[in-house]
Amino acid sequence: MSIKNAYLQRVYESVEKRNAGEKEFLQAVYEVLESLEPVIEQHPEYEAAGLLERLVEPERVITFRVPWVDDNGKVQVNRGYRVQFNSAIGPYKGGLRFAPNVYMGIIKFLGFEQIFKNSLTGLPIGGGKGGSDFDPNGKSDAEVMRFCQSFMTELYRHIGANTDVPAGDLGVGAREIGYLFGQYKRLKDVYEGVLTGKGIPYGGLNGRTEATGYGIVFFAREMLKRFGEELKGKEVVVSGFGNVSWGTVQKLNQLGAKVITISGPDGYIYDPDGVTAGEKEDYLLELRASGKNICAPYAEKFPNAKFFPGEKPWGVKADLYIPCATQNEIGMEEAKAMVAAGCKFLCEGSNMPTTNEAVAFLRDNGVVIGPAKAANAGGVACSCIEMGQNAGHTVFAPDQVYAQLESIMVNIHDSAAAAAEKYGFGYNLVAGANIAGFEKIASAMMAQGIV
Ligand code: GLU
Repeated sequence: MSIKNAYLQRVYESVEKRNAGEKEFLQAVYEVLESLEPVIEQHPEYEAAGLLERLVEPERVITFRVPWVDDNGKVQVNRGYRVQFNSAIGPYKGGLRFAPNVYMGIIKFLGFEQIFKNSLTGLPIGGGKGGSDFDPNGKSDAEVMRFCQSFMTELYRHIGANTDVPAGDLGVGAREIGYLFGQYKRLKDVYEGVLTGKGIPYGGLNGRTEATGYGIVFFAREMLKRFGEELKGKEVVVSGFGNVSWGTVQKLNQLGAKVITISGPDGYIYDPDGVTAGEKEDYLLELRASGKNICAPYAEKFPNAKFFPGEKPWGVKADLYIPCATQNEIGMEEAKAMVAAGCKFLCEGSNMPTTNEAVAFLRDNGVVIGPAKAANAGGVACSCIEMGQNAGHTVFAPDQVYAQLESIMVNIHDSAAAAAEKYGFGYNLVAGANIAGFEKIASAMMAQGIV
């Protein structure tokens, strides 16, 4: 596919010009605009209202210096970001990513995706994202605390429970959220749900940690159902070994599937016996907590498993593929390996794991794709439930949360499928998710005037 509509072309060209060099952001915008063609053609009023020009421009972009002192007494300086992208349907909502490759293009791509993802949940949350080029791997707890305190010392003035509510993402888990929350409370002297993904004793939501992974598996289950298939007995290739992979593996095991791979920046693990419930699942948490960002030790701990250094798992034969590591982990080379291995279903766990070229190639080869902004929306959906819990000064039980998560994921799947069908895309969930997410944002923006 390519963009043919003149209005969409014009908008994309101006995004390219204005955001030169931000390739992940351009990729995310292109993918969305491409699927909006039939919608834009039916709604000429959007062009008159400059709707897309406004949609692709963040409402506010904040960058700031984050100075901190390491354990050797040396001063370090990182760069902090918060992109408040769109507040048409609710306060800005989206995680913080701490990783050395973070720059404006990554934060903007994530913030842009978040607008549609959050809209798809059906809940009242706008789109935002933030982070820093700080690398928590290999840092002591004290260093992470000093960094988080410094980061919040600037960020606190821009956020609030009804303004902008950050959460975790890569490199930001319960530890970081705790330090960030403590500093916010100290600076603002207000106890409010300004962050989600908090620890259970101080306002966190039962089930939030596993929500993203569980939601992905519910979404995959709905995709399989369309073709009369079920998860039970299926072999699954999963990448990554962090929070998203962990929740995914857990739910897959509960539903009777078998996870045969995990991966890290150092290579991948093939486990013919499956990454089974109990000891093996728990070991993923240990790997993460080690702060080394490697998966090789899994094969030492469980000798039946084999470690493939420097390789990715996409050529391994399986029934279902679930990338849970990071953006663009599946390019053309990986997509070709997947097709050669007989891949039929790809359900995206990580944000934008597949390049646009690879998505087109996979689709042309009959692969059914569940796009990340729909499939991984269970995390942010539960974040919104956490916001509601905090605002209502109450606590929700795990079963309540799980039930709500499951029905949200079924809904997201069904509304993406219905939107694709309505605009002549068949069962193309990539287009359907973009359209269903966009429709709600567009009508809210139209109602609110030129702001
Ligand atoms: N970082 C997660 C995402 O990509 C969660 C965001 C949130 O809970 O606000 O959706």
